Amino acid sequence: MPPTNKQVTLAARPSGMPKESDFKLVEIPVPQPGPGEILVRMLYVSVDPYMRNRMNDAKSYAPPVQIGGVMGGGAVGKVIASENSQFAAGDFVEGLFGWQEYAISNGKGVRKLDPALAPVSTALGVLGMPGMTAYVGLLDIGKPQPGETVVVAAASGAVGSAVGQIAKIKGARAVGIAGGKDKCDYVKKELGFDDCLDHRDPDLAARLKEACPKGIDVYFENVGGAVFEAVFPLLNPFARVPVCGLIAQYNDTAATVPKWASSMMRTVLTKRLTIRGFIVSDFAARHADFLRDMPQWVREGKVKHREFVTEGLDSAPGAFMGLLKGANFGKQLVRVGPDTA
Ligand code: NDP
Repeated sequence: MPPTNKQVTLAARPSGMPKESDFKLVEIPVPQPGPGEILVRMLYVSVDPYMRNRMNDAKSYAPPVQIGGVMGGGAVGKVIASENSQFAAGDFVEGLFGWQEYAISNGKGVRKLDPALAPVSTALGVLGMPGMTAYVGLLDIGKPQPGETVVVAAASGAVGSAVGQIAKIKGARAVGIAGGKDKCDYVKKELGFDDCLDHRDPDLAARLKEACPKGIDVYFENVGGAVFEAVFPLLNPFARVPVCGLIAQYNDTAATVPKWASSMMRTVLTKRLTIRGFIVSDFAARHADFLRDMPQWVREGKVKHREFVTEGLDSAPGAFMGLLKGANFGKQLVRVGPDTA
């Protein structure tokens, strides 16, 4: 029997929160690489919030996954056959291979990894796209200054955890918002944030005001919804708001303009706020700087990180649905094959 390639495909476009039946596990023969191609066997696939938007048939900065198509996303694997002179069998690589056990690639956008420098899984987390998102969003848009207050939600997660720790490196005060006591304890005690509040606390707005006595200078927006409503009145004049993600709203079925939108815009004007959305790829030119700074901060223990790994490709849909509700505690990964790195 030739080996088979398991894939997680999109079976239906979800309405609201995705469910198991929106995904389908299929098995096809493992493809063989043609001229210029490599065959990669996956070790880890990444599970990320942006994948929810790719499941919608809506215009966005990237095309949607087609029905029957493999769920797209970053992954780390090992080259097991190469017809491409840039890669050799045995190389560890990171690329957009999607939720499958094997992938063919022409090598474009594929990055070689050195397992002696860092565990290969970190190429999907702190030393990969989420870490880079935190780095450029905070430093290039947030521009935290010593003594300023930086607030970030989803603070125990892949992006948020790095945001607060980079804010501390830059001499700012870091206040996290996370779901539940365990996550908040980790954010304060392990990651060294100055404070962390539970977004499920009905008194979040009052707690946040106490935790930010000098107001908020940078709000790194990961969440939207109720958290944004608690943060907004506390923004200082000239505050910066890098808008990175709105995970609290990804499963909303109707987009409504809130009644307070006009008063919000008035505040944007009178407080001279900078609110800027960004996609990490906008800052590709900063990748070399990120790869200079972040591995060093991790080695020095200034940026700590945590992975939340589920086992087997079959676990990817469940891990993804959990991520959208905060069931993950750290960067969500799926271990697809044994980590031989
Ligand atoms: P995380 O590891 O932070 O996981 C997502 C977390 O979001 C959950 O663990 C949960 O944490 C939190 N969350 C879910 N629903 C809510 C809610 N209703 N209210 C408050 N918090 C909620 O994911 P990432 O670090 O990968 O992503 C964080 C954000 O960054 C996302 O919005 C994502 O889309 C965005 N992003 C944007 C990029 C860009 O280029 N602009 C690139 C990468 C990510 P908790 O239990 O603490 O609430």
